[in-house]
Amino acid sequence: MTSQLPELLEAINRLTQTNPVPLMQKEIAELGIAARMFKRTDPSLLDQLKQAIGSNIGEKGAAGRLANERTPLDIAAFSLYDQIDGRIRAWMLDAGIRPSTKANPGDILRRWYILYMQKQVEETDIHRHALVVERWVSAIEDILDPPTRQELTQACPKCERRWVTVGEGEETQSRSALWAVWREDPDLSYATCVGCDTTWLGVGNMRLLRIQLDDKEKVNA
Ligand SMILES: [Zn+2]
Repeated sequence: MTSQLPELLEAINRLTQTNPVPLMQKEIAELGIAARMFKRTDPSLLDQLKQAIGSNIGEKGAAGRLANERTPLDIAAFSLYDQIDGRIRAWMLDAGIRPSTKANPGDILRRWYILYMQKQVEETDIHRHALVVERWVSAIEDILDPPTRQELTQACPKCERRWVTVGEGEETQSRSALWAVWREDPDLSYATCVGCDTTWLGVGNMRLLRIQLDDKEKVNA
């Protein structure tokens, strides 16, 4: 079995390190630059999330409104940051160290990883931690760059469900089981079934799903 440690470290790096944004191919051609260049360096995802707390990211039309009419902080960004911070501190406590209240979650997470690497840990445990950190990465990206969601009306090829029921009591409503989620990065776009949690990650897999759905419609027609 191959170790999940590289995946865990990569997800931790995305959260805690600055992200160089490369120049597009076109820009490189225009500028006549042969070397690999970066147009800017974005702060780490955790730092960007922290900055988003005081802004109005995700609130449509906020820029055109008076300052006193805006919400003072982005609730989604705040609760996600708070949740990540709490979890990272709990991991550090499990590793036997009480982090200082002033320490930022990115630094604590990097220190935790060094301690974690030195321990004899089960592969399933590494996998579990990698999944959690990867989920944080995509949750932060959802807040910073909200994806476009599209309902698909066909039934899921895996579980055959077309609709799922969400909510309780009077709030109950039916929604499509299949969704397509489009991101700027085609590798991060995906389709998912809310009914059985199957995910088709990347535009290539989404195309395969589309072919499967179209074939099925032909059979049923
Ligand atoms: Zn399904």
